[in-house]
Amino acid sequence: MNTTTGHDLAKAAHLLNTGELVAIPTETVYGLAANALDPDAVLKIFEAKKRPGFDPLIVHAGSLEAIRHFVEAIPPAALLLGESFWPGPLTILLRKKPVIPDLVTSGLDTVAVRIPAHPLTAQLLDMLDFPLAAPSANLFGQVSPTRAAHVKDQLAGKVAYILDGGDCSVGLESTIVGFPENELPTIYRLGGIPVEEIEAVIGKVEVRPHSSSNPQAPGMLKSHYAPRKPLFIREEGQDLPENASYLRFSDYLPGIPASRQLVLSKEKDFRTAARNLFAALRELDSADTSSIIAELLPDKGLGRAINDRLRRASVRE
Ligand code: AMP
Ligand code: MG
Repeated sequence: MNTTTGHDLAKAAHLLNTGELVAIPTETVYGLAANALDPDAVLKIFEAKKRPGFDPLIVHAGSLEAIRHFVEAIPPAALLLGESFWPGPLTILLRKKPVIPDLVTSGLDTVAVRIPAHPLTAQLLDMLDFPLAAPSANLFGQVSPTRAAHVKDQLAGKVAYILDGGDCSVGLESTIVGFPENELPTIYRLGGIPVEEIEAVIGKVEVRPHSSSNPQAPGMLKSHYAPRKPLFIREEGQDLPENASYLRFSDYLPGIPASRQLVLSKEKDFRTAARNLFAALRELDSADTSSIIAELLPDKGLGRAINDRLRRASVRE
């Protein structure tokens, strides 16, 4: 299959209408999209990504009305969150109607739903009469794509068209929130909306992002988002290996050539750091060094989600 890149919404809509895959820009990361109501189309996503069938997909819709067609109900707290953060980087788990194929949810009775904020994808969703199932447009377990060229690097030949929406403005996957019965609302994945902002709207939540304790979110495997070369997390004051690349939050380490260091945000701005994170990991991965040494950010706000990605990308020693 020949993979082309462009801005042609009619072409993207036509491919999706005929059961093909299209890579779409969102504010979080690029998604690999298919008609969420068509199991044959959805199967192509799993094949292209080499994604295991136990890892459910997020369904993207253009509006709350569209969502009501495929979920049983939207609980009041979920509605409050949707009204506060949609369109935006928040995914909510809701009870699905039978029209959502089991393949999309890996057999779970909830479906992960989001209204994305990228204007091109919003227009595309408006043109379609079905929602889009779309996981990140990378090979399973690898670094998520935040620009069209990243998608092409990993999925050329496996997706017909990449809708180019430029660099992703958030750069981190969505925060996933669920409402388990008789429990506090639960965050299953840290992401583009910080925990503090969610709690400001619905009060105290549980944060339970790891697969080991949380088989309900099978995608949250501990090793994920990983570059090809080993990534180690180093605390201040630990040994600094030769022949490594360094991922820094805001300043350069003394004594290491600047050419081997990447700074995520000189201004210590978490949003900038999030936007740069995955492109930085890719760049360090292709540098002529044997490992990546990453520094954790302050563990609050978006820093917490960035640290989660760095920990999942890291080699555990
Ligand atoms: P991705 O689209 O690649 O960012 O991954 C989507 C992630 O959403 C999965 O890996 C799961 O962690 C989570 N997810 C999707 N659907 C559900 C669901 N029904 N219940 C719990 N987690 C889900
Ligand atoms: Mg992913």
